[in-house]
Amino acid sequence: MKIKFWGTRGSIPTPDPDCMRYGGDTSCVEVRLSNGNLIILDAGTGIRRLGLSLLKDQAWTRKAAILLSHAHWDHIQGFPFFVPAFLKENHFEILGQFRIDSRLEDILKGQMEHQYFPVKLDAMAATNRFSEMVEETVTIQGATVTSRHLNHPGGVLGYRIEDRGNILTYATDNEHPPEGINPKVVELALFADVFIYDAQYTPEEYPSKVGWGHSTWKAAIEAARAARAKQLILFHHDPTHDDAFIDRIVENARREFPATLGATRDLTINLEPTRALEGEGKAGTTRTAESPFQVQMSGDVLLVTPPGSPSGFTGAEFKNAVLRELEKHPRRLLIDLAGLREISSLALGTLAVFLDFCRKNGVELCLIHVSRFIREVLHVARFTTVARILENDEA
Ligand SMILES: [Zn+2]
Ligand SMILES: [Zn+2]
Repeated sequence: MKIKFWGTRGSIPTPDPDCMRYGGDTSCVEVRLSNGNLIILDAGTGIRRLGLSLLKDQAWTRKAAILLSHAHWDHIQGFPFFVPAFLKENHFEILGQFRIDSRLEDILKGQMEHQYFPVKLDAMAATNRFSEMVEETVTIQGATVTSRHLNHPGGVLGYRIEDRGNILTYATDNEHPPEGINPKVVELALFADVFIYDAQYTPEEYPSKVGWGHSTWKAAIEAARAARAKQLILFHHDPTHDDAFIDRIVENARREFPATLGATRDLTINLEPTRALEGEGKAGTTRTAESPFQVQMSGDVLLVTPPGSPSGFTGAEFKNAVLRELEKHPRRLLIDLAGLREISSLALGTLAVFLDFCRKNGVELCLIHVSRFIREVLHVARFTTVARILENDEA
């Protein structure tokens, strides 16, 4: 997976000389998947330059998915200047949040009405297909994409993109609720290799901006820690912050979370795939029966990685370790079933013990990385009616 930042700024472009290092264009991130396909995150003014680079790119397959977080200006304003959308040989799938009050296509048409712009959306000759998303996990351009509603005036979707073992989380324009970190951000960013997050304000600025739907760099770090993200990218820079100011923010953030970067203009990150393609031989990260289990509290979430075999799953040592931690009353128990291809009835019994504890103590039980086979077993055993399955990257 290759990630490139074409637009990093929040709210409004800042074409000022002292803002150029972190960048003046608004939100747009290019994601090249391991299969060569392209996902574009948001269509802020950064998508103009991305479009020009695609015109010269011989390797580009002439199709892409554009995932819009929401339709505030700083996330759609570059779309009318995205030249590839005017060329009939190109194909775009444009996805954004489902709304009761308006259709995604109408919103994008609206900003190109003649009062605002000289050319109508219909003049875009590419095949543009619009789809609206709810909270779901779907395959887009060959990657597994999970969407969650975050907290922002008018609504916003955050996205988690999984591609051959690489995890990218794009969660911008989110304000944590007063009681703590938004659990949906943690869910999206769990174990992310790269976690792009809204860090518009400093903690000093925040009290006068409550309710505006954005976060501070401190809030970014709290979310990155809770999700055990590997790399945090501070994103959606405030237009009043120049390069020197953002340098200080990044410096402060690094003292608390060393793996922090500020998104800069044209920053590029390459991730090597850690999982082989289907049918490409042995999957690199599948755990073996000998894999030890992990039980770890992260914030108020208890993360459990069971042993890599159904038999290990039923061992008393594992069961007791989980129950001991559950006594500390986490808000949520997350069980990661990655690498576990099958499940026995005895292992289901262990799950039932956890479930029973969770129901009696008000702990939410969630299963993640559930293989298609295990999902079917859980369905037949009626577990899916009482425990949440957060995503299914095997389906
Ligand atoms: Zn924004
Ligand atoms: Zn916004």
